[in-house]
Amino acid sequence: MPTLICPLCRTPLTLENKSQRCANGHSFDIAKEGYVNLLLVQQKKSKEPGDNPEMVKARREFLQAGYYQPLCNAASQLITPLNAKSLLDIGCGEGYYTQAFSHIVADIIGLDIAKPAIQLAAKKHPNMTWLVASSALLPVADHSIDVATSLFSPIPVAEMARVIKPVGHVLVIRAADTHLWTVREALFGEVRAHHPDKFLEELSPHFTLQQQQDLRFDLQLPQQALKQLLAMTPYVWKAHPERRLALENHSDFNTTAAFSLMLLRKH
Ligand SMILES: [Zn+2]
Repeated sequence: MPTLICPLCRTPLTLENKSQRCANGHSFDIAKEGYVNLLLVQQKKSKEPGDNPEMVKARREFLQAGYYQPLCNAASQLITPLNAKSLLDIGCGEGYYTQAFSHIVADIIGLDIAKPAIQLAAKKHPNMTWLVASSALLPVADHSIDVATSLFSPIPVAEMARVIKPVGHVLVIRAADTHLWTVREALFGEVRAHHPDKFLEELSPHFTLQQQQDLRFDLQLPQQALKQLLAMTPYVWKAHPERRLALENHSDFNTTAAFSLMLLRKH
């Protein structure tokens, strides 16, 4: 298991009586659900950072219904040949993809700044390591991770380079150009294409693109699933409420999911 490090003094943490402690006496309790909260007060920009419970619940239900199963499969297929022993899922949410990766990789750490998401993940999948933590300072030891994943989550490039082993990988997944085009059209009228490639430049100081895969599939959404999709999508709150209401009135809605999967190798 990769060593966790203290978010205050960066020395190794060891498990002692239901808490994680460092040599300098900093101690972090293990919650009854089994996760550890390593988020420092000074790292919180709000009282409850990250996705709120409603967003977490909507995403959980939407993903459990299998709408993004093709993406989960494609991501797993990219990770399998790497023969990784350890994986850090940055911004793992309630652990839908993280859990799938646990069938391929032995040691998995799921990390998210949102406590409600980690609580849900830890309750549902107790045999994995779940951390409430900031991605800006990854609480794992140098060169201890084979693969870091970021699915629609932050990309702390320098921290990723620090924690990944010399021959390690990063999997970044982002919405591609036409992702949910008809949904965005209904919400905003005018739609701009997503540009997932822009993240490659940020990563280029430490990582080389090894494989880029485009994944597209149709989504036929009953009203309930459409509402969940809107509730879990961060930019929706910017839409005019009347437009959102009109969209939510559809009993069925067809759209397309489009993702870019980018596998990079450390250099
Ligand atoms: Zn410490």
